[in-house]
Formats: sequence, C-alpha cells, structure tokens
Amino acid sequence: MLRVHPVPAFDDNYLWVIEDGRHAAAVDPGDAQAIASFLDARSLTLAAILVTHHHDDHIGGLASLAARFACPVAGPDDERVPGRTRTVREGDEVFLESLGLRLRVLEVPGHTRSHIAYVTDNNALPPSVFCGDTLFAGGCGRLFEGTPAQMRASLAKLAALPSETRVYCAHEYTLANLKFARVVEPGNAALVARESRDAERRARGVPTVPSTLAEELKTNPFLRDCAPEVIASASRHAGRALSGPVDVFAAVREWKNGFRA
Ligand code: ZN
Ligand code: FE
Repeated sequence: MLRVHPVPAFDDNYLWVIEDGRHAAAVDPGDAQAIASFLDARSLTLAAILVTHHHDDHIGGLASLAARFACPVAGPDDERVPGRTRTVREGDEVFLESLGLRLRVLEVPGHTRSHIAYVTDNNALPPSVFCGDTLFAGGCGRLFEGTPAQMRASLAKLAALPSETRVYCAHEYTLANLKFARVVEPGNAALVARESRDAERRARGVPTVPSTLAEELKTNPFLRDCAPEVIASASRHAGRALSGPVDVFAAVREWKNGFRA
C-alpha cells in the first residue's frame, strides 16, 4: 500500500511524497533539502519527480534531486520547467513502475498558462489529485497568466472528478480561504462546520489537506459560482449585476485579491 506525506517547506508549502517503504515519488519538490531529509530518514530512493507548474516554490529542488537520484522528471510543456525528461499533456499517462502507480494528466491553465494536475488512474492509491496551485482547500490560485474563463474551466475539470477524490494542493492556505468564503456565503452551514474543524486542526499543528472534492463542492466559493448566495454577494461587492458564472467567478476572484481578513 502506498502512503502520501506532506513535507512542509518555506512558510506554507506542502511538497508531496508518495512512497511504498522503498521507493518514492515527489510532487513539486520546491526545496531539495526538505525532500532529501525526508527520504534519508526513511531510507527511500527517489524514483520520479512530477511537476505541476514552473514557480520556484514548486521546482526549486528539482535540479539537485534529479542529479542525486538520476530519476525521471515529468512536467508541463514549458521551458520554465528545466530538466524535464518527459513533457506531459492532457490525457497522457504517467506510470510510476516502482510504485505501481498510474496517473493521468489534466491541463489546468489559469494560475500559470501551462499548469497541469496529476489524477490517480489505478487503485494503487485512493482517488486523488495533485493539483499544485490551481484548486486549494477552500480557495483557488491567483490568476497570474490565465483568464477567469480559463481558470473556471480548469476548476470545473477538477470538480468533475469523483466526489471522494482527495485534493492534494500545494499550500496551507485553508483558514484564510475559509474566512473569505464565509464572508461570501455566510448562510452556508457546511462552511461554518468546516472552518471550526480546520481551525482546530491548525491549532494542533495538523495539516488541513488533503480535503475531498465533495467538501470543496459544498464549501469552496470558487466552485460555487452558481449558488444564489454567492451570486448575490459577488454582485453586491462588484456593485453591478453579474451576467453568468464566469462573470461571478471573476468577481469573486477579484474580491479575494483585495480581501484582508
Ligand atoms: Zn504557483
Ligand atoms: Fe505555490
């Protein structure tokens, strides 16, 4: 049975390691030292590196880990992800032979233009998605290189996965996200319950991720641009009637950009 571990790095990143007791794969190894210490403490050999997007907190440790372990590196079609041994695109399969894990690639542009996600494609792990900075627990990534329509379509692609899918995002932003979500949708009882549970987890120093897609669908305002209360709040904040889900999504994203808890 495979296990998935968050390796904390920097202020609030989680670098994900998937391992079977002997071999490991690292998703977005932003910090080589953090990953190396984790692997060495458990005598694990790094068998693969998977990259979701080119930002430094996701690829910073790539070169030194790939050199030390001489392992393959899968990543998106973008020259800003150096050292790829394989470029992967929508629908491609990535089979990690030593772990028996098959993943499928989804292109999810918006945070960056070439951002991808990896979805489990066999039962070596429970249904899971490694989605980098696209979908967060209670939120979504900032639109650095994409349009609201692109990001919304990317999130819709993730939202269409089975509802039990575990959402392995790359940052512990949950409490700040939920605080904003509650302003957008104060009448959402599931959101209130989630916030108190996750606040209690953070108080104990426990990660709030992975969440599940079911939970995101019920509480994440960026997946809820068709909910009446979200539409009403977004319109009120924007000071105009919003025409359709993309407009609502864009208004909520814009609102969050300027939101201080
Ligand atoms: Zn990023
Ligand atoms: Fe990041």
